[in-house]
Amino acid sequence: MVHEFVNEPYSDFSLPENRKKQEEALKKASEQFDKEYPLFINGNDVKSDRTMKSMNPSHKDQVVGTFYKAGKREADMAMKAALDAFEEWRWVEPKERAIVLLKAAQIMRKRKAEVNAWLIHEVGKNWLEAEAGTSEAIDFLEFYGREMIRYSEIKGVYPFPMEYPELHYIPLGVGVVIPPWNFPVAILTGMTSAAIVTGNTVLLKPASDAPTIGYQLVEIFKEAGLPDGVLNYIPGSGSEIGDYLVQHPRNRFISFTGSKEVGLRINELAAKPSPGQIWIKRVIAEMGGKDTIIVDETADLEDAAKNVVGSAFGYQGQKCSACSRLILLDEIYDDFIDMVVEKSKKLTIGAAENPDHYMGPVVNQASEEKILSYIDIGQKEGKLILGGEKAEGNGYYIKPTIFRDIQPGARMDQEEIFGPVLSILKAKTFEEALDIANSTEFGLTGSVYSRDRYRIPVAKKKFHVGNLYINRKCTGAMVGAHPFGGFNMSGTDSKAGGEDYLALFMQAKLVSEKLI
Ligand code: NAP
Ligand code: MG
Repeated sequence: MVHEFVNEPYSDFSLPENRKKQEEALKKASEQFDKEYPLFINGNDVKSDRTMKSMNPSHKDQVVGTFYKAGKREADMAMKAALDAFEEWRWVEPKERAIVLLKAAQIMRKRKAEVNAWLIHEVGKNWLEAEAGTSEAIDFLEFYGREMIRYSEIKGVYPFPMEYPELHYIPLGVGVVIPPWNFPVAILTGMTSAAIVTGNTVLLKPASDAPTIGYQLVEIFKEAGLPDGVLNYIPGSGSEIGDYLVQHPRNRFISFTGSKEVGLRINELAAKPSPGQIWIKRVIAEMGGKDTIIVDETADLEDAAKNVVGSAFGYQGQKCSACSRLILLDEIYDDFIDMVVEKSKKLTIGAAENPDHYMGPVVNQASEEKILSYIDIGQKEGKLILGGEKAEGNGYYIKPTIFRDIQPGARMDQEEIFGPVLSILKAKTFEEALDIANSTEFGLTGSVYSRDRYRIPVAKKKFHVGNLYINRKCTGAMVGAHPFGGFNMSGTDSKAGGEDYLALFMQAKLVSEKLI
């Protein structure tokens, strides 16, 4: 028996002891910056002939870790290990697999400050964002552990005269797990642990911007007693080995979270059977967003403004769920913009390890360049009213940036920017606001701030996104309460952290014996 799932509480950093613990963990992590990390295949540390460096975006020249890089040879080794391990792991009782996740959750809980420290150093999360990320990873382990036990107890069939029908959820095989860098512990842990607890074995290729954080999970699973070969860790460049991994004939499924472009490529390549392949590969792909908050004249404007700012600029806007479009009703357009600008002006920005900074850097130079190029586009498509330039410091710092008077259909209204840039649009009616909100190819998250009892139910029905929130920010989905996944080009709507998720990693086998 396990107790019911509850979300992991956040450490309160206003308490001196918690602050001290996090400071010490940051220092301890920084003392390990010169470490070399091997690949982890079949329970062994493996070195390849090439390395890559993970950098700290808060201090451009600071190396966070050096990683041996997987090529085809290592991918093949990992595939062989995973295929061999599958022949044992697939038969392990669901409950026993669940226990490994529950133990891993316990270990991660003890190591929270350490995992937070890597999030802060490697991808520029502020303390609170790091704490939220690690807590979410713990939630995934706890939730999917319990979910596996629940699935193993589902009856799934109706009685039939003179027969004994049974339905069993069995694993798929070897899967390739490819997470993004922006939630490098939460999403990586969620995707990996779901694949493992359902009885599959895994090749985990972390994002090249965040291999050190992924390595923490490898260590945690090792300590939790996960058998060799079930989880194989193969950092490497997605553009170099991604296609090879996806097209491998023995790969049974791909669980991907990242950009639309890469997700669509994986979907296309996976659809074509490779020589020797005897199944249709399953693709779980969660992709980008162009997420919107609508505010009308009846809303609690103070609360709405605070949450628009948090949704747009929290973690520098680098969340798939980040608010990148704000649609305002005519009557409040100018006044509400003033409120948002006033609050955004107060945001502090600088090195992520300093807890006084609300905003840290964007993740790397390519991101910085992409965001700055969108700021140029914004100058042509709207009116810049805040930011629009880099901030001080030897990191990839971009000031919170706001454009008003963006028109529906403009690139700033349609394309994912993935940085601290907010486009504001005007709508004459609430219906028009919903039409604009629904007018992109994406459909991930959205929020409506309103107190109008007639409009709220209309929004609930017509705002076409996977995660819709009323009078709440559009970021910060909680495991269990807010199963997460998007519509349209935002992905396959896999609803991570929800009751449907584990089914994606299994197939149902019906067995019925005649009673004669
Ligand atoms: P990305 O560039 O698509 O990369 C995601 C992962 O794919 C990385 O591990 C990357 O490896 C790998 N990859 C790159 N090319 C590949 C290929 N040809 N084959 C196989 N794998 C390949 O995305 P990102 O920049 O990491 O993350 C940001 C994006 O993720 C945004 O679009 C955001 O909206 C989306 N996202 C969506 C969700 C959601 O739940 N819907 C959640 C978080 C983020 P390398 O790092 O080595 O290139
Ligand atoms: Mg980095």
